[in-house]
Amino acid sequence: MSYIINLPMGTLTLNETLRILSQAQKDGRKALLETEAKTICMEYDIPVTKFKLAGTATEAVKFADEIGYPVVLKIVSPEIIHKSDVGGVIVNLKNAKEVRNAYEQILENIEKHKVAARIVGMLVQEMAPPSTEVIVGAIKDPQFGPALMFGLGGVFVELLKDVTFRVAPISEQEAREMITEVKAYPLLKGYRNVPPADIDAIVKVLLSTSKLVMDHQEIKELDLNPVMVYAKGAKTVDARIILE
Ligand code: ADP
Ligand code: MG
Repeated sequence: MSYIINLPMGTLTLNETLRILSQAQKDGRKALLETEAKTICMEYDIPVTKFKLAGTATEAVKFADEIGYPVVLKIVSPEIIHKSDVGGVIVNLKNAKEVRNAYEQILENIEKHKVAARIVGMLVQEMAPPSTEVIVGAIKDPQFGPALMFGLGGVFVELLKDVTFRVAPISEQEAREMITEVKAYPLLKGYRNVPPADIDAIVKVLLSTSKLVMDHQEIKELDLNPVMVYAKGAKTVDARIILE
């Protein structure tokens, strides 16, 4: 498998997944960078927000112009796993000036938190419109192997632990069951002025994630958190992959 596909964010050569995983292993890195995790997602047909890695504020502005406003700026560092905990994410940047300011602000925030982090650069990202957020995850159990997780984002997972699991690989039927069995499911069916979420799009993300973790058993944990779900389609705005 080595054909080239053209994507808005550049050229992706299959099989990028193998290249990224072996590079991380060579470097002795357990946590993939968001850029790497999202590139793997793209290869598995999991929709992600457009992104470009900038090395300077000027470059970030150039990429923001290319992607189109509003954009999100995020720190990229092998040592920073939870980016917003250290002020490493600023959303809804509407023009070049805001991008420049956010770039400096994030670097200041990181310094304030005194994290000894190597900074790879700043990720300029398409801003996904706010919507219902879901979490798709995978975790490798020493006994059962990879298992898939599903839940609704924010308080549902963090506070109420309203999540569901299935041992991978999952069938389409199982993916649909996972979605309907969480307590927060009614939120996906639409309410008041919120239209019903595209359940088929979530099913597709679950099935693709199942294939990904089955193909690459060196993945210990995977987190697509959050995935924005719309009336039509879904988009992963953050992806994290931890290796064994
Ligand atoms: P963390 O490493 O802290 O989990 P995230 O990349 O998930 O960082 O960013 C934190 C929050 O910012 C997300 O939960 C989401 O609400 C928002 N966010 C991040 N990226 C985007 C984006 N591209 N579009 C819209 N919202 C985003
Ligand atoms: Mg996140």
